[in-house]
Amino acid sequence: MTPDPTTTPAAARRKTALIVGAGIGGLSLGIRLQSLGFDTTIVERLDQQGGRAYQKRTPDGYVFDMGPTVITVPHFIEELFALERDKGMLGEADYPAQVLAPDARVREGESGGERTRDYVKLVPILPFYRIYFDDGTFFDYDGDPVSTRRQIADLAPEDLAGYERFHADAQAIFERGFLELGYTHFGDMPTMLRVVPDLMRLDAVRTLFSFTSKYFQNPKMRQVFSFETLLVGGNPLSVPAIYAMIHFVEKTWGIHYAMGGTGALVDAFARKFEELGGTLRLNAGVQEILVTDDRGRPVRRPGGKRVARGLRLESGEELHADIVVSNGDWANTYLKRVPAAARLVNSDVRVKAARQSMSLLVIYFGFRKEGPALNLRHHNIILGPRYEELLTEIFGKKVLGRDFSQYLHVPTLTDPTLAPEGHHAAYTLVPVPHNASGLDWSVEGPKLVERVYDFLEERGYIPNLRERLTHSEFITPDYFEGTLDSYLGNAFGPEPILAQSAYFRPHNRSEDVRNLYMVGAGAQPGGGTPSVMMSAKMTARLIAQDFGIHPSVRDGVPERNTADLAAD
Ligand SMILES: Cc1cc2nc3c(=O)[nH]c(=O)nc-3n(C[C@H](O)[C@H](O)[C@H](O)COP(=O)(O)OP(=O)(O)OC[C@H]3O[C@@H](n4cnc5c(N)ncnc54)[C@H](O)[C@@H]3O)c2cc1C
Repeated sequence: MTPDPTTTPAAARRKTALIVGAGIGGLSLGIRLQSLGFDTTIVERLDQQGGRAYQKRTPDGYVFDMGPTVITVPHFIEELFALERDKGMLGEADYPAQVLAPDARVREGESGGERTRDYVKLVPILPFYRIYFDDGTFFDYDGDPVSTRRQIADLAPEDLAGYERFHADAQAIFERGFLELGYTHFGDMPTMLRVVPDLMRLDAVRTLFSFTSKYFQNPKMRQVFSFETLLVGGNPLSVPAIYAMIHFVEKTWGIHYAMGGTGALVDAFARKFEELGGTLRLNAGVQEILVTDDRGRPVRRPGGKRVARGLRLESGEELHADIVVSNGDWANTYLKRVPAAARLVNSDVRVKAARQSMSLLVIYFGFRKEGPALNLRHHNIILGPRYEELLTEIFGKKVLGRDFSQYLHVPTLTDPTLAPEGHHAAYTLVPVPHNASGLDWSVEGPKLVERVYDFLEERGYIPNLRERLTHSEFITPDYFEGTLDSYLGNAFGPEPILAQSAYFRPHNRSEDVRNLYMVGAGAQPGGGTPSVMMSAKMTARLIAQDFGIHPSVRDGVPERNTADLAAD
């Protein structure tokens, strides 16, 4: 058992932190806490780090990234690899001039920053996405206004002028919403109220689909410029138009791939964390977050001061620390790990009332290269015949539709090492309702997989797929609910609707329990790999503030220069 910090004099020891979960959010915060002078232990229930970004290696030689594949904002990654022990660098500009320079986006060769290259090789992917429509036409989105205009002229010439207006307005949202406000922790109402006039002025509070519909008449263009939020669990029909910024995030810094797969990036984060002195414990599920009152006594009823003291593992072992951070699912953290008597704000009623994001069926498969050529790119969005109706079925009615849309990932077009020689490794992801649907996935899963394979073969996306297929497995919402312990099997945390964004999204500093923090997709700013890295930095800033971390450590500046900073 670790020493109990409530009985060990603070001056006699370094501060300690426990993080539940080794997802990208947990690992990023682990690296940041080591750089803030904490001794950090990450406890992960699974046998490997990564969470949603778990990488699976099969006995027949395939490597599948189970989750994120679209890597954006490489300088967030560079920041993490550049950190050093006891040098938090939290005072640096979040977007230094070189990151905002017009030529900041790397379009060919290697794209990771200098320190990233010590750990992993990032390469840019072009086009970002090939977006197939149901009639077989496609749009290669690459963030380049010239080729974008050319393709709009081919597919929807009536929308050319609208694109110019969309571009200008989405850029304004990106500049205010991402560059200026992206790292704001909305912990109180006044912080939120201060930004409301701007959001109104930018028209960023209407839904994204209605926002794009202002500029585009053609249904194909409305889809091209709104589908991206699905990759972070947001329904384009419900997410606020602030999410139009994704378009600009991709355009500004590109889309990238980590050679060896996203798993190689995750492993590199774990290595960095351990190099900075952190401890990663796998196969260590957390049963309870230990909470007492401020005098160390058990809590019996809601109200009064509550303090996180440590964790009890499923094995019964207890760990103690100055702070506890949950990178696990927000809803289940409160519903299952924090005693109800310690929660007033995050009560069972409130947590269960929150809207959860959709779930997914993901099929991981391998097939022989030999055969008719593929007309696919690394990232392919294959849209079905219906868009708005399908989204309403998934998010609202929670039923399985007669058709589907999918995201087909073929990383071996970039990186053949992920499959045995002469083979492709691929995954295809189909948005489906979360488990409030009551669907029996042991019945519906295999049926949907067959329909997807039929579709890919019959429509010629992968000709003769059945004959060429050498490996097939899939996950359903039950994987998210069981293996990843996500409430109702959500794939992306609470749904990013306006009423669950900014101040209204779970806070990174628990409203109920002192020294308890949340990091990752369920907390602010939201889901997606860049956001969870931002979440880690925002949470590190809150912790640095709460614990009065000395500026020499917080900002990594020599002690003699800290007098001014300390007075900030
Ligand atoms: C299929 C899929 C594709 C995606 N594609 C993209 C993409 O291309 N680009 C992008 O930016 N984003 C994508 N996303 C979203 C992105 O993957 C997530 O937002 C992000 O990885 C979440 O990271 P996290 O650290 O918040 O949580 P997670 O990755 O969920 O990690 C949480 C960790 O906590 C652990 N844990 C939970 N409970 C306990 C417990 N009681 N004890 C111990 N450990 C526990 C879990 O095992 C898990 O390892 C995708 C998501 C999915 C599911």
